Amino acid sequence: MFVNLQKQHVFMKIFAIGRNYAEHIQELNNERPDEPIIFTKPDTAVLRNNAPFYYPSFSTDVHHEVELVLRICKEGKNIEEKFASKYYDAIGIGIDFTARDIQTKLKEKSLPWDIAKGFNGSAPISDKFIPVEQFADKNNINFKLEIDGQLKQQGNTNLLLFSFDYIISYLSKFFTLRTGDLIFTGTPKGVGPVTIGNKLTAYIEDEKLLEFEVK
Ligand code: MG
Repeated sequence: MFVNLQKQHVFMKIFAIGRNYAEHIQELNNERPDEPIIFTKPDTAVLRNNAPFYYPSFSTDVHHEVELVLRICKEGKNIEEKFASKYYDAIGIGIDFTARDIQTKLKEKSLPWDIAKGFNGSAPISDKFIPVEQFADKNNINFKLEIDGQLKQQGNTNLLLFSFDYIISYLSKFFTLRTGDLIFTGTPKGVGPVTIGNKLTAYIEDEKLLEFEVK
């Protein structure tokens, strides 16, 4: 007997870009990259519907990184930058939770970051995405994160080192992009620890799109 894998599994890929805002690179004393830094998260990292984030037992220093998230709407590879805008149709917001203590140890040994970035629940994502055409200028989008009502991170896409279109073009050299894939596009400055009991609220412009608790 055979089962149809497609009915049971979600094949969505989740990509994330590291070090895409200069002031965030400075706050972690990282080097500015010549090309986008790419990592992935498994689909089990995703939290939907404002589900709570359960603080993991293996870390004592989980950081929030608020990021705009692109939704891929068309399959493609080796996409030229000038055509890249056809491949994403909506922008949402998410948190790239990072076990900074684990990541720091792995970085010191030049080892991969997967367990620091891809653990269960490490990718809360808004259910609402905003169609790209609703933005007057996608290179001038404000977004922010509040914790318990206090502003913690604030970014604007005019500060991106690598634009959305460049990211799409670059990623698609290595990975076939498919409808439903998601791309975390990097965090602005202001990353820091979360603690149990925090309420995180994320906005694109003045639109509240994501709100959940740390438990
Ligand atoms: Mg990040």
